[in-house]
Amino acid sequence: MQHPLAARRAVVVGSDDDAVVVLSDALRTAAAAVYDTPQDAGADIAIVAVPGDAPADSLVAWARQFGSALRGVAKHGRIIVVVRASGPTLVTDAVHGFVRSLGRETGRSAVTVHAIVAPTPHAAAPVVVFLASERAAFSSGQTLMLRAGDGPSMAPAHPEVAVVTGAARGIGAAIARCLTDAGYRVMVADVASQTDAAQRLVDALGGEAAGMMFQPCDVRDPAAVSAMLEKARTLSPVGCIDVLVNNAGITRDRTFGRMSDAEWSDVLDVNLASLVNVTRAALSRMSDGARVVNVSSVTGLAGNFGQTNYAMAKGGVIGFTRALAAEVEPRKIAVTAVAPGLIETAMTAKIPLINREIAKQMTSLAQAGQPEDVAMAVEFLARREAWSLRGQTIRVDGGMFFGP
Ligand code: NAD
Repeated sequence: MQHPLAARRAVVVGSDDDAVVVLSDALRTAAAAVYDTPQDAGADIAIVAVPGDAPADSLVAWARQFGSALRGVAKHGRIIVVVRASGPTLVTDAVHGFVRSLGRETGRSAVTVHAIVAPTPHAAAPVVVFLASERAAFSSGQTLMLRAGDGPSMAPAHPEVAVVTGAARGIGAAIARCLTDAGYRVMVADVASQTDAAQRLVDALGGEAAGMMFQPCDVRDPAAVSAMLEKARTLSPVGCIDVLVNNAGITRDRTFGRMSDAEWSDVLDVNLASLVNVTRAALSRMSDGARVVNVSSVTGLAGNFGQTNYAMAKGGVIGFTRALAAEVEPRKIAVTAVAPGLIETAMTAKIPLINREIAKQMTSLAQAGQPEDVAMAVEFLARREAWSLRGQTIRVDGGMFFGP
């Protein structure tokens, strides 16, 4: 997307002068109108850049100085605090508390609030542009810790290939559509019983003539996974897989004391063990500079009544993401995850209406998300420019009140 912030007004202020310059440039490149002082007419985007090594008493002055910039943010606006630091400091922890709280206050106006902790403003710039865009409307109240280091080189001239598991419907189908729009050739992988839906999706994406393919594949079956990945390689002019999205997942909800062995093993097998196996099988077929994006869940971060099996699996996905990211870093392969909250799909249609309504009210934005909200976050994480986020899990949850 060439001009993600067209017609958006941004105010960039703060005591980190370098960061103000770099972030203002990035926003201008994304087509925003950028101001260095709060405007009477308000703004759509307010960015505050602060150093991470500031003493505790400077926070008071900071809060006073920038209060006016933050108060003038329009409906559907964005507030992003960028802290220059390489890890947690007093300021980053203080800012995390601040954005978690402010997000709850601004959510009813659909204003989202984030903190980005980044070693350099250049590392923060692409993430700031994404979070400031309409594509990040269903994320709020989170602190992203970015990492330093040079990422992979520019994208190749030929089309890249993305594999999406569980792509016949719901979030997976939205991811397949979003990646197609971004120029990928997509392997739609799903169980054989989803053949009709998957084939309809492939046709809608442009069919085999456009480099799209459906391959029946139960992620629990290693032979089927190998066959699917080999077919995916044939979509690439250089025989490589560039992006893997581990999206296939199931729920089998019951309280811990009553949960059957099958409910335990099915959920852990599909959501965690198979995700590990598919990733292992894909890595040897991936190019250097490839990306793996795992679909976890806020349940993996915050837990949920009646979902000990699912929470264990999705929590495992978050740990696996962090650990694998460090291992494959030398190959410039980025591994990240998304943690969706309540998203309207067939999976959540099973949840009793009253529980769904309660879950919506437990978010800053007081609504459920759409599969496209998750898909847009996945598409961003699949970009080379998201390198500084490797190992991280991005919440796409409307700013849920619980969890870290
Ligand atoms: P969905 O049930 O609509 O779609 C899941 C897809 O995965 C289906 O097409 C299904 O056939 C496929 N699948 C299931 N088992 C498979 C297997 N063994 N092999 C291959 N494919 C398999 O669910 P969704 O809501 O679109 O969920 C997609 C992902 O998002 C899942 O990992 C889910 O846990 C996660 N998630 C969803 C929500 C939500 O609110 N919907 C919230 C958090 C996380």
